Amino acid sequence: MKRITLLGSTGSIGINTLDVIARHPDSFEVFALTAHQNLERLLEQTVQFKPKYAVIAEIADKVVGLAEVKSKFRQKAPQTELLIGPDALAFVASHDNVDSVMAAIVGAAGLLPTLAAARSGKQLLLANKEALVVAGELLMEAVAESGAVLLPIDSEHNAIFQCLPSDYPVRGFERSGIDKIILTGSGGPFRELPLAQFSDITPEQACAHPNWDMGRKISVDSATMMNKGLELIEACHMFQISLSQIDVLLHPQSIIHSMVSYRDGSVIAQLGQPDMRTPIAYGLSWPERMEAGVEPLDFTKVSQLTFESPCEKRYPCLALAKQAFTEGGNMPAVLNATNEIAVDAFLNRQLDFKGIAEINQQVLELTPGISCDSIEDLLAEDRIARERAQKLIQKRGL
Ligand code: NAD
Ligand code: MG
Repeated sequence: MKRITLLGSTGSIGINTLDVIARHPDSFEVFALTAHQNLERLLEQTVQFKPKYAVIAEIADKVVGLAEVKSKFRQKAPQTELLIGPDALAFVASHDNVDSVMAAIVGAAGLLPTLAAARSGKQLLLANKEALVVAGELLMEAVAESGAVLLPIDSEHNAIFQCLPSDYPVRGFERSGIDKIILTGSGGPFRELPLAQFSDITPEQACAHPNWDMGRKISVDSATMMNKGLELIEACHMFQISLSQIDVLLHPQSIIHSMVSYRDGSVIAQLGQPDMRTPIAYGLSWPERMEAGVEPLDFTKVSQLTFESPCEKRYPCLALAKQAFTEGGNMPAVLNATNEIAVDAFLNRQLDFKGIAEINQQVLELTPGISCDSIEDLLAEDRIARERAQKLIQKRGL
């Protein structure tokens, strides 16, 4: 029995993870579930999976109707202890009775509990890419020092992981005979939309991804391709490589989830349905394989696989992510924080779609580059960037 803490259980990755876990009741036990605001869903999940702990991530004063929530949990899920507040996330992520932690909180909010899991030597199933973007060096150091096992859940990184030799962590990029890692992306819903129409894009259109059903933030990031930018940074940390060792390739069908191109001309790709239960199941069962509830790929129905290079004019966020990673220090954290604020403003109709990239660029330009050696430094930079972004968005108006 593997005992799992699921950070962000009420989100898209969280729900898919529980779907996979429910198919294997003899292999997994849910130790803790955590949520931010959707407490009805957290309660339903708690009733079904009977974890030892359910955690509400908010500070207690901010939880609407807390007394009522507590009483509902007591009534319907008496076996589960309800914990409240951000510290409780780190507590359930690092608890001695946990084997694996699925990090599926969205944004930098997931950083501290993810780091707690890494520091305590857990098997860390990482969906929360922003944690690696903000604090890649510190997180990778924590993994190395504690002996934690980092398994990528992001579909591209999971694909790359599957295409690398199993001794890659020892041999590294060069000695494994690799030429390039090819990170694929669909290009999102606006790959063919005339640029002149970008100012009219609505949140509904941006969230309607052609192939994947995901949370709202990552859906908008896919539309701007900031998601691919964040994934480039994620891949550099995770596989200990430089930007020049990765190419981004648009592949609108999302059947190939990424590839590794070797020196001898071989290219190994991982293919499958665009369904996150595949990488989630691989992470949960690694190094074995288990059923995930995913339809097998029917090649007779896949009429074509096409590829093209991303156009930088259409996707300025991609270049901004490369720039931030190249500058290093505080810059990836600053870009990530700004982007979170800008995407949120777009989703709340306070900023137009093109404004997301513009605000990201402005905050990067306004921020002096500094090196950051601690989480506290990075979180301080994150806070300043958020304030700067808010002010610029207010000034800009819609
Ligand atoms: P989502 O918005 O559907 O769910 C986010 C989860 O995080 C929810 O459970 C929510 O309660 C929790 N949360 C939100 N704010 C929080 C806060 N301040 N403190 C604590 N918890 C908070 O997001 P998602 O689509 O499931 O994505 C989760 C992560 O996985 C993201 O980092 C995303 O980039 C990554 N990811 C998602 C997919 C996908 O298919 N959805 C694919 C690859 C990677
Ligand atoms: Mg991805």
